Amino acid sequence: MNAMATQFASQSTSVLPIADELDRALRDATPAEIIAAALKTVGRDHLAVVSSFGTESAALLKVMADVDPAIPVIFLDTGWLFEETLAYRDTLIAKLGLRDVRSIKPLEEDLKRDDPDQELWFSNPDACCRIRKVEPLARALRPFSAWVNGRKRFQGGVRADIPVVEVDGARLKFNPFANVSREEIKDIYARAKLPQHPLQASGFMSVGCMPCTSRTTEGEDERAGRWRGRAKTECGIHTMKIS
Ligand code: SF4
Repeated sequence: MNAMATQFASQSTSVLPIADELDRALRDATPAEIIAAALKTVGRDHLAVVSSFGTESAALLKVMADVDPAIPVIFLDTGWLFEETLAYRDTLIAKLGLRDVRSIKPLEEDLKRDDPDQELWFSNPDACCRIRKVEPLARALRPFSAWVNGRKRFQGGVRADIPVVEVDGARLKFNPFANVSREEIKDIYARAKLPQHPLQASGFMSVGCMPCTSRTTEGEDERAGRWRGRAKTECGIHTMKIS
């Protein structure tokens, strides 16, 4: 174990000082440098990338694969995803040589108990996201000390001020694309000839679950089609502490 990983492992009470130190050190780093630093800090066995295989996901996955294609990737298969998203996952696994993509499903017992009629997305979307996303992610992250995600500051809302490294419960959370612009993401797609999400061409700028995703029109915020008409803007995996 390297010096940073040893320091991390010995920090049993709080990872906050390590997160602050890393955030300062990586503030102007590239996404690849940030993912490499995450690997160095906790070691390969303790780091996971979380991806929705949505419209911009291929950029993060490409950068990750260039650093280490065997980093585990957690994909939350809520049961409400578009067939196109599942197909896109398989396309990117093959294109990028991802070696450890884990498709995580909600617990059947939770679905039977809390959503027997499959209408929870309408009656209580926060509860639906909790049993289909937040709790499955918490279970999937148990073996890991740190996770990586693809949020960008340019997405606005609660994402406008995200740091590069933060703390999520007991874990480090790396946001290697925090500083990245929309143009830089387009550039990653172009240089690597990455395929677009199949729904993007028909007007879906951000893709989540079927009942909670709609097309966006010209000039709308790219996430405007998510939970349209509701106060909800986030599923909860980034706004609730994952224990
Ligand atoms: S995005 Fe919609 S369907 Fe998906 S888990 Fe959340 S509320 Fe349920």
